[in-house]
Parts: sequence; structure tokens; C-alpha cells
Amino acid sequence: MAQKFINVTRSSMPSYEEYCEQIKSIWDTVHLTNMGPLHNELKEQLKGYMKVENIELFVNGHLALYCALKALKLGGEIITTPFTFASTTNAIVQAGCKPVFCEVKDDYTIDETKIEALITERTSAILAVHVYGNICDVEAIEEIADKHGLKVIYDAAHAFGVEYRGRGIGDYGDVSMFSFHATKVYHTIEGGCLTFRDPALAAEIAKERNFGLNGEALDCFGTNAKMNEFQAAMGLCNLRHIEEEIASRGEAFCRYNMRLKDVQGLTTLKCVEGLKQNFAYYPILIDPETFGMDRDQLAVKLGESGIFARKYFYPLVSENKAFGEDLTAETAKALRFSRNVLCLPMFAHLDTADVDRICDIILKK
Ligand SMILES: *Cc1c(COP(=O)(O)O)cnc(C)c1O
Repeated sequence: MAQKFINVTRSSMPSYEEYCEQIKSIWDTVHLTNMGPLHNELKEQLKGYMKVENIELFVNGHLALYCALKALKLGGEIITTPFTFASTTNAIVQAGCKPVFCEVKDDYTIDETKIEALITERTSAILAVHVYGNICDVEAIEEIADKHGLKVIYDAAHAFGVEYRGRGIGDYGDVSMFSFHATKVYHTIEGGCLTFRDPALAAEIAKERNFGLNGEALDCFGTNAKMNEFQAAMGLCNLRHIEEEIASRGEAFCRYNMRLKDVQGLTTLKCVEGLKQNFAYYPILIDPETFGMDRDQLAVKLGESGIFARKYFYPLVSENKAFGEDLTAETAKALRFSRNVLCLPMFAHLDTADVDRICDIILKK
């Protein structure tokens, strides 16, 4: 019997008709990109949904993060986490700064108690990551940053729709970056945004996004990272269904929890209290000794049944060969996580029967 293939993720799609209806006006306006009417409409709607004051849209999340570092005019060293996607570190290096890697906690986010020891006179900012939709200790990080006069940037690529103590997660820190890539909880095909505290930053961000142009003047060496109208149209469609998509993810998440939370040698994700979750990922941490099989063996076993789980994040970004040296020694926990975490399939409308099939394989070993 042919096995059903289940990938780690599946992009949410509006109906074909809904998208066609949404892009119709582009043929009237012939405004394809450069902050068109659909872009501006999406910006307003996202401001409301994400509960933030200031937002700017981008062609993708990575360039948004890069532009944030440039707009804040950061230099020197940036304290960050090695347990993230390549984008975080690459943006730091591309913006001309040096990443300084800090150890993580059991919930995979940066260990705020280890940040201060890494601060030098060259430190300009903390770039932390809200991992798997769980969040950093935003209050402790703010306190450290205020004490030392540092900027705080969050890579919130995983955290769209997340709220903490009734506030949009993008409302914490100086700037947060959200990714709207096709594989994320909410997408605009490719895309992303920055949310930020200081409204004056909007002009700097806009210049970095559009070649450094300020009217007719050239103010800086900006890049090109503008969101186009077809992306914005996809975003407007997907935003209409986001609550139902997140709720559907939540059902799969609960089912996984029910089946896997008491398995020996397997640890599930625990989010902080007071969080409105988005159920972005379902990571499991395998202890090879007590589970009786290591992460890589489990990935192969699932693969044999047509189930594609993802080693994420693997390798650590601090293992990038371009550094020319081993930077993993000081972050042993992050290294252990990168070798032992597996993200199971997680997307809206993942069948309970499929979750059960995945769990059966894991439990049978
Ligand atoms: C997806 C992702 C990014 C990059 O976003 P893109 O929109 O794909 O450029 C950055 N950081 C993290 C943690 C991500 O998961």
C-alpha cells in the first residue's frame, strides 16, 4: 500500500478564487510594487492584528532584519544566540557587526542570566530569538539593555500572532522582525516586517529598504527589500483566515502533547506562562540514553514511513565554516539541542489521524 507522505510543513493557501479576486485591482492601478495600495492596506490591517504602533513591510524577513540593524546604526558586537536559523547571524555579519554567542536555556531561548558577562565596551545590542513560537524573557532582557544602554532586537520570525500579557509580542524591544515566508504560521509567499517602538525609526527603515533614497536625495547605502502587491494580496487573503489556522494548529499541538508528554527520554516544548501561543512548531528533544534511540535514528525511522521531520536548528549557526574557528565550546547546551531536537510535522489542518500515526511510530521505536 502506498504510504501517505507527510512533510514537516505545508503552506496555508486561500482559495484560488479568493486570491484572484484580491489581485484584480492590480490590473486597474497597474501599481505592482513600491508601497502600492494593497501594501498599505496590509500594513494597516497588520498593525491592528499584531497590536503594534509602528510597522514596515518587507520582501522577506532576512532583509527586514538586516535593515533593522542598519537603521539602528549598530556597530561593534551584538550578543545573540547560536540556536537559531542562519538568517539571524548572517544579518549581523552583513551589517558589519560581530556576533557574540550566548548560551540558551531549557526552553531554547537565550539565557538572559549569561548576557551581562558577555557585555564589553564594544557591545551595541542584544539580538535574541523567540524560538518555536515560545518567547525570550523579554522583561529581564529589557532591564539588562536599559542598564547598559543597549538596543534590543528580536528575531520574531517564529512568533507571528503571539501575545504576552495582552500585548503583541512585537511591542517588546526596540525592533522585532517577523518572517512571512511560505513555511511560517502566516505568509505572504515570501515577506516579512519590522515592528518598532520609536516612530522616528520609520524614515531610517524606509531608506534602508529602498536604496538609501530620501525623496531625491541619497542618504545611505540602502538595499532593495520592498514588498510587492502580489505578496500583499496573499497577505490580505491569509490574514482573513489566521485565527482559524492557528486554532487548527493548536488542535494538532494538543494531540501531540497528549500522546508524547509522558514518554521517557522525550521532552516536549513548554511555553512561558501568560502567552497566547501560535503553535508554530512541534519540537521534541531526544535523550538517546533513556529514549533508546538517537535523534538521527528517529528521523530515519520516520522517513521510512513517509514522514519528514526536520532537524531544526542544525547545525548551529556558530558552526558556520566561514568563521574559520570553532565557536561552539561556550554554548554546550545549544550544541546538545542542535544534535537532539527534531521538529515534527506541524501545520494547519494536519489530521488527528496523521498525528496519531506519527506518534505511533515514535512510541513503537
Ligand atoms: C524563517 C526565519 C528567518 C528568515 O526569514 P525569511 O522570511 O525566510 O527571510 C529568520 N530567522 C528565523 C529564526 C527564521 O525561522
